[in-house]
Amino acid sequence: MNWTDKSSVLLAIEQDPNNIKYVNEEFRDDKDVVISASMRIPELFQFASDRLKRDIGVIRILYKTSPDILDYVPLEIQEKFLPLLKGMSISSKNLISVIKYKSMNVIVDTDTLLYKQVNVFKKALDFAYDHISKSKVPSFHKVLYGTEIILTTKNRFLEKYDVGGPTIPGETVAFYWGYKIYFFTDSIFTVEMPGVTLIHELSHMFQLLYMTPKGNEEIDDLYEQAISQEPCKLTLLPKIGDPLSNIMEDGKWAWDVKYASDSEEYYLTRIENKMYFYTNKKGDQKFFPESFILRMVRCPSKYGATGYPDFFAEMCTAITINRMKPHLRLMVGAFLNIVKKNLK
Ligand SMILES: [Zn+2]
Repeated sequence: MNWTDKSSVLLAIEQDPNNIKYVNEEFRDDKDVVISASMRIPELFQFASDRLKRDIGVIRILYKTSPDILDYVPLEIQEKFLPLLKGMSISSKNLISVIKYKSMNVIVDTDTLLYKQVNVFKKALDFAYDHISKSKVPSFHKVLYGTEIILTTKNRFLEKYDVGGPTIPGETVAFYWGYKIYFFTDSIFTVEMPGVTLIHELSHMFQLLYMTPKGNEEIDDLYEQAISQEPCKLTLLPKIGDPLSNIMEDGKWAWDVKYASDSEEYYLTRIENKMYFYTNKKGDQKFFPESFILRMVRCPSKYGATGYPDFFAEMCTAITINRMKPHLRLMVGAFLNIVKKNLK
């Protein structure tokens, strides 16, 4: 393959856009060649010359049919195409900027920010903002004022912000810590609806800032009620013969169960006085009270297992987006009453 004139290069690109990988610098700097290849396979724009990667005219043409093109464009050029990034001062290596989003502040603190990530984040923000401003949960909309969201990556968070704080599970996309919400752009595609996650984290913020201690006690009581609900117990409590590894939290071992089982499987052999006895092949026995097991099983919701703050956040989120499992629907009235009576 040795194309020396433009028409044979264009012909080769037409036959297979991937041929742009093999043409010389001169043609990678040619608008027609680059547009023809990238129009059909946007990823091929990475083979364009540095000059064309900054050519607003070329980018604009390609951007219309495939916005992903921006992934291969320098950040200061991306800025011109992304409303969310507009007005930011960007230095290419160390990107820290504050963006006003309606009444919130978004702090961008990351070295890499892809168009796709910004786009998904923006949608999540719109979703959360929209729903919270219309939420049935009294005063929830207050979290929309002055709240800081930090757009960063997990590694950067661990390096820079994590001061002996909590550990972050792999699939976490948003995370509430020290009166701020961290949103991890690198895991943004790991969850189905980042907007819902954002509402969940903002619910934690709401509880911390606006609920009185008495209110939190009442929420804790309601949570105890929720996890002791009969239908929930009946379907989720283990039965004789069930392996201990069934008692897992989000597919991971709770550490004390893991410690107890020592990688060897135990099976439920006896239930007595709300105590669950598990036995392994060697006849070793482990036992757990029912209250412990109830906290580990997914009851009443995905977050119910982890305690009442997550119960609060999940109720708040479910009411706000109006999506509620039947057994939780019964608690909506009680929940909203507690919130209404116990606002700071
Ligand atoms: Zn949570």
